[in-house]
Amino acid sequence: MLDLMLGHGAETFSCGEVGFWYRPVQREHLRLQCSCQASPCDVWNQFLTSPEQQLHRRVSQSLSVRHVIDSTKRLSWVLDGNRWAALNGLLAHNVVIWKSPQLYAYSWWKRGKPIAAALDRYVRYYSRLAETGLPCKSLSYEALVEEPESLIRALCEHLGMDYFRGKEHFWKQSAHLAFGNSGTRETLDSFQPAIRTQDVFPTAFEECYFQNLTADHLQRLRAVMTWLKQQDVHATSDRMPQSASPPLRYPLWYYRQIWQSRLRKWTGRLR
Ligand SMILES: [Zn+2]
Repeated sequence: MLDLMLGHGAETFSCGEVGFWYRPVQREHLRLQCSCQASPCDVWNQFLTSPEQQLHRRVSQSLSVRHVIDSTKRLSWVLDGNRWAALNGLLAHNVVIWKSPQLYAYSWWKRGKPIAAALDRYVRYYSRLAETGLPCKSLSYEALVEEPESLIRALCEHLGMDYFRGKEHFWKQSAHLAFGNSGTRETLDSFQPAIRTQDVFPTAFEECYFQNLTADHLQRLRAVMTWLKQQDVHATSDRMPQSASPPLRYPLWYYRQIWQSRLRKWTGRLR
């Protein structure tokens, strides 16, 4: 949703999670699906053979847009995206949107998935992001739902992106979102105002949540929440740093992610 809000306007283009095309994690990633539902999509067709390190630059040049939004969450892709931007003379800004641990766990619980695993994944993801040392701004999902206009306006200010009235009304513009979550894609299809209000948690979920919340989770969550709030878009008024230095040594999980994707690509093509 945030990528579409930022991608709304003539000078921006939202790629969705295009990184999964280059580095598939699931079998579905072996064929690019676009939210426009054209098969193949004419917009993406012109970029799919671009080398990954040149993708953002080529999108920007070919579509004549100043800002290219990439919402691929895979952190190895994020690290490389920052490195490629520096090599291509582009400026990378990192923005992270986060749900409260409870809301995140609830989205898992509704799908019958274990809450303990959701909490593990939550702390692992944000801890790793903090560990990269990349400069970023954070944005609370719940706050964005409550007050989209002021948050998008503030974020645009940080990013040096023009804000216009109604930029957050992303459903008013057609999009070419690679992959992306089904909720946002359904929203695009329905043409309904899409900013959903928060769910009210059922008692059964709350009981399950607190049963699964361990002391270790609590300690790690506290560290993650502190870090996220320090990066909050409202916490500082400064603009984003002008360049990000990639880490000198990449963490082990970076190489694990790269090899997992290579294996997936290789085995997928053998089928
Ligand atoms: Zn398309």
